[in-house]
Amino acid sequence: TKSNAAEKTYQIGTDVTFPPFEYANDNNKYVGIDIDLMKAIAKDQGFKINLKPTSFNGAIQAVQSGQLNGMIAGMSVTPERKGSFDFSTPYYNSGVVMAVSQTNNDIKSLTDLKGKTIAVKTGTTGAQYAQSIQKKYGFKISTFDDSSNVYEDVLTGNSVACFDDEPVLKYGINQGTKLKIVTKPAAGTPIAFGVKKGTNQELVKKFNAGLAHLKKTGEYQKIMDKYLNAKK
Ligand code: GLN
Repeated sequence: TKSNAAEKTYQIGTDVTFPPFEYANDNNKYVGIDIDLMKAIAKDQGFKINLKPTSFNGAIQAVQSGQLNGMIAGMSVTPERKGSFDFSTPYYNSGVVMAVSQTNNDIKSLTDLKGKTIAVKTGTTGAQYAQSIQKKYGFKISTFDDSSNVYEDVLTGNSVACFDDEPVLKYGINQGTKLKIVTKPAAGTPIAFGVKKGTNQELVKKFNAGLAHLKKTGEYQKIMDKYLNAKK
């Protein structure tokens, strides 16, 4: 598709640090599955994007207030969110797992959390999952705005565990984060691009058309392989 001045520019929110979906690389440039996919779809469908890395919850708020036209942030399609968002065709799947420090041999399951503190990111399915089982397992919850601070809280020992998306924890651990996953995925969900419910419908249509086309050309698989098979 050739680019021209008449192309519409959309303001798109994303998370700050959520590799392999989005993260700033060594040159302080945002890369990742979401970034590459969004850029490829925009190019394929002839529109422009202005990417705004903000916290996950910040992006949700900004989409809902109309400051952003949409968001791509490893975002889970949940029944609650369907009340305020319209989602694209899903482009991946995720589930919430619990991770602890690699040096921690005491916390092996949810039942070991009694009286302890765990860390989650504000507004995520990991936070929702923790809240849903908090009473049953008797732990306290510390919340942070981004995943790196969640992991840091576990590594420093303030929290004994964290709940976050499995592909993200796996990627981080593969890249050297000193955590280990100790549970099977819970709260599995599709991952999709989202807009405020009832708005920017043409953008969702373009996203879906672009995604379908990139799957046909093999570019979608190339992007997934690039990040999911990344070695340290
Ligand atoms: N998939 C999770 C959710 O939608 C986490 C997303 C994120 O932290 N960027 O809540």
